[in-house]
Amino acid sequence: MIADPLYARAAATPDRPFLLFGDRTITYGAMAALVDAAVKRLAGQGVRAGQTVAMMVGNRPGFLVAWFALSELGAIAVPINTALVGEGLRYLLEQSEASLLIAEDAFRDSLPALAPPLVPMDERFEETAATAWTPRQRLALSGGTANAILYTSGTTGLPKGAVISNACYELAGAHMAAALELTEADRILVFLPLFHANPQMYGVMSCLHAGAVLALLPRFSASRLLDDVRRYGATGFTYVGTVLSILAKRLTEADHDHTLRWAVGGGAPPSVWRDIEERLGIALRELYGMTETGGWVTMNTAAASRFGSVGAPRPDTEVQVVDADDNPVPPGVKGEIVTRPGRPGLMFDGYWKKPEATVAATRNLWLHTGDRGAFDADGFLHFDGRMKELIRRGGEMIAPAEIELALLKHPAVQDCAVVGVPDDVMGEEIKAVVVPRPGFVPRDVETFLQGRVPGFMIPRFVETRPEIPKTATQKVQRHLLLERLPSTVDLRPTGT
Ligand code: ATP
Ligand code: MG
Repeated sequence: MIADPLYARAAATPDRPFLLFGDRTITYGAMAALVDAAVKRLAGQGVRAGQTVAMMVGNRPGFLVAWFALSELGAIAVPINTALVGEGLRYLLEQSEASLLIAEDAFRDSLPALAPPLVPMDERFEETAATAWTPRQRLALSGGTANAILYTSGTTGLPKGAVISNACYELAGAHMAAALELTEADRILVFLPLFHANPQMYGVMSCLHAGAVLALLPRFSASRLLDDVRRYGATGFTYVGTVLSILAKRLTEADHDHTLRWAVGGGAPPSVWRDIEERLGIALRELYGMTETGGWVTMNTAAASRFGSVGAPRPDTEVQVVDADDNPVPPGVKGEIVTRPGRPGLMFDGYWKKPEATVAATRNLWLHTGDRGAFDADGFLHFDGRMKELIRRGGEMIAPAEIELALLKHPAVQDCAVVGVPDDVMGEEIKAVVVPRPGFVPRDVETFLQGRVPGFMIPRFVETRPEIPKTATQKVQRHLLLERLPSTVDLRPTGT
């Protein structure tokens, strides 16, 4: 059970700090007492093993208390993206068959008419019990019990709920703690939303495993990050690529006056990677993984790291790059990344109530990631984008990220995304969607990109929009960009 290490520490060292949040310090003992109180209350509200219970809770101690309490009851937590409203929210509540919803007051107005009965997330989840913690009898549940349903972010359409077992979380925590060489002296800063797999597995579970300290922030703020690092004495944090890019923009010079040693996550472009490492003087542990793989499958560790790659496979996990017929391709050749666990519990248990999607994703007993990449001669994996996002123009396969990174350097481009749009002659043509700053001229895109990307990668269409639609984890929702708006300019109306 995910709270096992919490109870072990609560018994051995109850007064050691577990959680720092604002001015509060919650010790391991106090956290166990809070979880026990929540177990009682939730059981009284009818929560039973096997039930799904949705949560709409931001980053605060109560999120962890409720999550651990549900797992103690054998219930399945459905942590919902707190930014969801309307149809998207209704779909998740219905598809997950949630019997209860634990929600903060702030989200009440977003709830659909037929939402499940509400349990308010209030101070009762967070008030430290007056009496000291005493061990109680716990349910004897198997590690294979489903712990949570994590909905993927929906970059390609309707989200699917990846079922994650208790064993999967525990293994993720144990392996991450080992890969980062965490000790009790580590203080892990978590600012990514707790409904997401990354902070759960790389932040919370690795912290629990190592008996370290978790410093929880309500949200990411690039301008305050280093102040928070200093305030909490943080030694590391978990990231997604966008966060690092924003941070790198702010850090214009070196700042080594802090306690940070590492950062772990996925999606740092090489230039950002270098900037962050140099300016902060820390090690970036770039990895590759997805919710479905129950954490990372490749990672740059202290023992083996290669700049620009997503690292080498975990020892307990097989990773291959295959062609369209599922045959492995040699190093240096790009193909689909597939992976399979070397022991039970390492990966998701399938998509909740979507057997066809589960079978499709795990055909031939390998999880097909839908991502493209290649191994180098030394066994490091290089990530090359999502296969569905690749633009197929003429004979070329073009990864949009390369064009986006080049275009973002343009001073009048605030944000951008590149997609393929259907074309009778070329199969697909490249369209750049730009959030302009004052003075942006669509035609400049062509001259600006010349010499920065190969000619065949220069977009034919440039469209301006007030913003780029993104998921909660800041990934571009490309399927929402395919329609050609009237603001589109054709840079080569006669073709080519
Ligand atoms: P959906 O499946 O709905 O599109 P999602 O795939 O964004 O959601 P996650 O499971 O959080 O949800 O993200 C996993 C994906 O993130 C991977 O499949 C891959 O495309 C991308 N990714 C993972 N690691 C990296 C990395 N190091 N660099 C760039 N992208 C990465
Ligand atoms: Mg995905």
